[in-house]
Amino acid sequence: MSKQEELDKLREKAIQLHECKLCKHRKNFVFGEGNAEAEIMIIGEAPGKDEDEQGRPFVGRSGQLLTRILENGMKIKREDVYITNIVKCRPTKNNLGEQDVPPGKEEIESARWIIEEQINIIKPKIILAVGNTSARFLLDTKEGITKTHGNFYDYKGIKVVPIYHPSYVLRNGGENSPLKKVVWEDIKKVIKFLEEK
Ligand code: URA
Repeated sequence: MSKQEELDKLREKAIQLHECKLCKHRKNFVFGEGNAEAEIMIIGEAPGKDEDEQGRPFVGRSGQLLTRILENGMKIKREDVYITNIVKCRPTKNNLGEQDVPPGKEEIESARWIIEEQINIIKPKIILAVGNTSARFLLDTKEGITKTHGNFYDYKGIKVVPIYHPSYVLRNGGENSPLKKVVWEDIKKVIKFLEEK
């Protein structure tokens, strides 16, 4: 079976079996998309409003910034990487479908088997852990992203580099901010790793 077929099978299984508090409030299950044979896997936190509506990861404002980082900075087409999130249903405050909030522990744990299987199928060379939730999950640490960003860690033999979440960058100065420069410095390390591997 090809990796894409394995992912398709997992997607069907996850839609049927996955249960969390967020499931009944979602519009779409956001499994992930991209190249099943990718060397780079991008793992964010959870879908927001736009992602929930479209059933695709990172398509809202922060997703557009992520896509620019990939395409303009790394010179990699979005469709050549694999993009997903730790949690597959949109978390909102009090489940009212209005304000996005980070997923809770319970929601993260109930979706654990899906992201673990996705990583195991794709077996990328490197994972970009986008934002705190993803970095803490993959590094199995309570340490915050301010300390971990830009460093190389190991997840079951796969390199993991945490980067600041684009939505955090957008909330703190955006495109020309010092924070964006920090993200770019971290990305340059990833580019160097991929060139040297
Ligand atoms: N933020 C994330 O972490 N993931 C998305 O898909 C969208 C916004």
